[in-house]
Amino acid sequence: MPSAYRSIGFVGLGLIGGSLARRIREATPEVKVTAVARSADTIVTAKTMGMIDAGGTSLDALDPDVDLVFVCTPIKDIPATVTQLVSKFKHPLLITDVGSTKKEICEHAYGLGSSQLFIGGHPMAGSEKTGVGHADAGLFDGKTYILVPNPDPRYREFRSFIESLGFRVVELAADTHDRLMAYASHVPYLMSGLTVQATQTLSNTDRTLLKQVISSGFYDVTRVAESAPEWGADVCFYNSNEILNEITIIKNRLEALEFLIQTKDRDALKALFASVKTSREWLYLD
Ligand code: NAP
Repeated sequence: MPSAYRSIGFVGLGLIGGSLARRIREATPEVKVTAVARSADTIVTAKTMGMIDAGGTSLDALDPDVDLVFVCTPIKDIPATVTQLVSKFKHPLLITDVGSTKKEICEHAYGLGSSQLFIGGHPMAGSEKTGVGHADAGLFDGKTYILVPNPDPRYREFRSFIESLGFRVVELAADTHDRLMAYASHVPYLMSGLTVQATQTLSNTDRTLLKQVISSGFYDVTRVAESAPEWGADVCFYNSNEILNEITIIKNRLEALEFLIQTKDRDALKALFASVKTSREWLYLD
């Protein structure tokens, strides 16, 4: 299907920006793709891999006629980048982002009062790896892309474009997105990190033995602990209220669990774990 956009830009070309650029290249090779990264090396790699036509380390490297820009920088740089794009480009431009939090980013973009349309987005795929070297067009196969809906007619066109890349679109208000992400991603990341951190209290001898015996269960629970520390700090900063709400819930439940273990209340423990199992099964039911 021909793309609604003739020239697409990226600001930030790491795991997510690079993977989207590769996917767009595959789906619509006729579209011009230009990009901005922090380092020149990233641009050289991206050109060598054939994922962009041109790029550089400042917004001047974007095609002057670009009509859609994906902002794929770390979260903390997204609001300022949107401001810069809005003041740089005078022709109609659609700006979207892929940040893992949405409320502050969307409020910032809407507050600019620009005629340029901003659409908040978040592809629900990724990994603990970072950088353009890990970019993979297949990363997004059959995955969900969250969009913050907008009454502007250009939103429907953008939604169709995202669907044409193979995503299943789910529309969420920005505050709903952030509340759900605390449960789906942000707090699981924190719990994963605490599980790893607890092993640091073991003696060196025990840690060496642990390394020999850990298996898939530990790996499954702790994989996301290797996510970029900058991402972890950003989600805690930009989604603090929702994360703190869930931490309170987990703290209360941890204390209740601690009490059941201390009192060796086997029946209550079994009932608790049965309810956990049912709850997880329900989450994965179609
Ligand atoms: P990443 O691999 O570290 O890539 C970040 C990119 O942004 C790099 O290309 C970096 O340039 C560039 N960059 C950093 N600061 C910049 C600035 N001020 N101006 C221009 N470019 C800048 O990170 P990522 O995992 O792709 O994450 C990017 C965004 O996607 C984040 O907002 C994150 O919340 C969101 N996200 C991540 C995942 C995930 O699983 N990783 C999933 C969904 C959404 P250099 O390459 O030169 O360093």
